[in-house]
Amino acid sequence: MHSAETDEITGLYPLLPQIGVVLERPEVRALLSDLPRGLVLHATRSVLTNLRQEISAGRHTRESLEGALKIFPASVAAAIEAFLLPSLRPVLNATGVMLHTGLGRAPLSEKALANIAAVAGGYCNLELELASGERGRRDSHVESLLLRLLALLLEQKEESFLEQRSVIIVNNCAAATLLVLNSLAEKGEVIVSRGELVEIGGGFRVPEIMAKSGALLRETGTTNRTRVDDYARAITPATKLILRVHQSNFRIEGFSEMPDLEQLVHLADLHALPLFEDQGTGAIVSLEDYGIQHESSLLRSIRRGVSVVAASGDKLLGGPQCGILVGRRDLMEKMRTNPLLRAFRVDKLTYAALEATLLQYLSGQERELPLLKMLALDAEAVRLRCEAMAPALQRTYPGAEVVPAQSLVGGGTTPGASLPSFALSLAHHSLAAHSFSAVLRDQHPPVLARISEDRVLFDLRTVPPESDGILLRVLLELGAHRQEEAVANV
Ligand SMILES: *Cc1c(COP(=O)(O)O)cnc(C)c1O
Repeated sequence: MHSAETDEITGLYPLLPQIGVVLERPEVRALLSDLPRGLVLHATRSVLTNLRQEISAGRHTRESLEGALKIFPASVAAAIEAFLLPSLRPVLNATGVMLHTGLGRAPLSEKALANIAAVAGGYCNLELELASGERGRRDSHVESLLLRLLALLLEQKEESFLEQRSVIIVNNCAAATLLVLNSLAEKGEVIVSRGELVEIGGGFRVPEIMAKSGALLRETGTTNRTRVDDYARAITPATKLILRVHQSNFRIEGFSEMPDLEQLVHLADLHALPLFEDQGTGAIVSLEDYGIQHESSLLRSIRRGVSVVAASGDKLLGGPQCGILVGRRDLMEKMRTNPLLRAFRVDKLTYAALEATLLQYLSGQERELPLLKMLALDAEAVRLRCEAMAPALQRTYPGAEVVPAQSLVGGGTTPGASLPSFALSLAHHSLAAHSFSAVLRDQHPPVLARISEDRVLFDLRTVPPESDGILLRVLLELGAHRQEEAVANV
């Protein structure tokens, strides 16, 4: 096909400069004196490619193309700036989901950040015993601290508690579970209730982890009911371990039954089998103080006498991503000599953040942890912050209002657990809720919010109060800017 239109388009391509010519322009030469030549070339090519695509899409006249070429060096500079921006960056979480796996779960405390900066910028005693000058274990840093803290919270004598137990830190709870199953039950059988063969957020599937560990899954009971007798009947000479998986992200309501942890501990003891619990949430404070019904905690599992327990560091503990294993010393020794531990070990940044977080618990300052602060936040305080922002917003977002909301704990922790909160509810005058929320994600900083009935909800519980101003600025700019655009487009 040949038309006047395609002729016009083809006629535009020769106007595009050769790369060599662009590189000779003084503004681009200035860029070359500061930046690697390859980067400038790459950016120039990408601007040229964009222009070529715009031409072929029929988006340019001769005039508009000449305009674009005039600002070519500025476009190259902008492309370079975009290349040099980290892809991983801070966002404002106005979803009200406190542990959002997509948004990095628990925010770290000031103390944790300061300790990372203090330890990671130079050398540290990661695997060195300062007293003897000998090679040390990297998990010794957290081990005695965590055990001391647990002994304190459990009101147990510290010496015997420390003597009998050990701690291992790995990359995450999934790695911790794999390490336990492989170390304690490879080629043997692991008994688990059918009701616990679950998938927990992010593709953590118990049967798949089990298969990778080399242990054989021995299912018992039914999806909704498993009794302690079911476990007892499943025990054979091949049994190496009893596994309990905390049902963290779902709950079977109604006609369901699972044995208590105590009953399982008793059964395991009777048969001299270890009982391993994948506890998951890592809670060591009572969530009931925060108005959340949550019967499982790392503390409770240890109190009940579980042989080994695994938890995440970045869920209800409020620390960095890691997997925390606490267990009987003889069993933990088997994990310590497993080559998998070498593959799963964490770096100094993680230890620095975890140690600082645990120290906040030990010194009774855990309420300073961002996660616990958010949990403790009174709904009324959230409402007042929303009310303070509403009048300014009502000018650009007619009908903007403050509405009751429910913040979610999230992160695969407490099924459906929520806290009463408040949110700003906005409708953009020219963008539907989905488009508005896409534009919000494209801001600096990106803003994440919730959509409900074609309105966008901003739950301020998960926004640090000191960021209220930033959120307001972004929203006002977006409202005003889009309004002008909408007017211009009429
Ligand atoms: C969250 C969770 C996991 C996965 O933890 P990661 O730290 O994300 O690997 C495993 N088991 C349970 C019970 C969990 O709650």
